[in-house]
Amino acid sequence: MAQLGKDHFFRSLNGSEEEAVSLIDNRDINDYYHSKSDSDEKRGPANNSLLVVCDHASNDVKMTKVDELRESPLIRSNDGFDPGAADLAAFISEQNKCMALLGNYSKLLIDPSLPLANDNLVRVAYKSDPDQPVTFNDEGYLLSERVVKFYVEYHRVLTEVIWFLQPQVILNVHSHHVPESSSDNTSDVYLQSKSLCLKGVKSDIDRKFESQISCSVTEQPCDSVLCSSHLSDSLTNFYPDKEIKSVYLSVNSDFLQFDDRDRQAELAEIISQFLH
Ligand SMILES: [Zn+2]
Repeated sequence: MAQLGKDHFFRSLNGSEEEAVSLIDNRDINDYYHSKSDSDEKRGPANNSLLVVCDHASNDVKMTKVDELRESPLIRSNDGFDPGAADLAAFISEQNKCMALLGNYSKLLIDPSLPLANDNLVRVAYKSDPDQPVTFNDEGYLLSERVVKFYVEYHRVLTEVIWFLQPQVILNVHSHHVPESSSDNTSDVYLQSKSLCLKGVKSDIDRKFESQISCSVTEQPCDSVLCSSHLSDSLTNFYPDKEIKSVYLSVNSDFLQFDDRDRQAELAEIISQFLH
């Protein structure tokens, strides 16, 4: 399996997998084949060492019935998905010529970042507005169908991709919303890793952007505004005999949506340098 990943694209996804997950394969497979026949231009094999994963890339609530007036704005906000995170994940995967895996359904249907035994797996009220019920979850939702169609498919393809690539580092990309009224000072860029030292990212971001972007680097999850880092943390122990360096990244979604692309590119470049 690992041998295959060195010079092959991952197999194409079928219908039921595509409902749950998208794959972007930016690895340099063709250049590798080219270099085999042209010894003057030798390049390394495909970059299998980094895998970018974006759990909350989509706000698609599929076939559910939505209260358009009240709920649509919430579904399009950080409650329903991670605005800007899919673009950032795709961008980092382009920069690093590596594979990216993205979720194709709203985290309101079922949250792939959480373990199955969790009270918030299917939210009955919106996170940003706990008085507001998620109507399509409040009225007899089909839990087993969602587990099978979305949750299991997502994790199954993710598992298969990890065995195919055998990456050394997995970057789990999220975005978060910082409420204006918020008393806790959530950073614009938040990085968490138990297995990779990322202190240099903070000093590089501080130096590059002076005080325009705040960044915090931790070993333990510590902020309730952020998505769960459970999946990211548990991937560290994916292999029985070696550790994956797992990194959780969350970026302020306002920054991703409204600021200029150059700044995002610079930010992605700084982070990429530390993903080895
Ligand atoms: Zn998220």
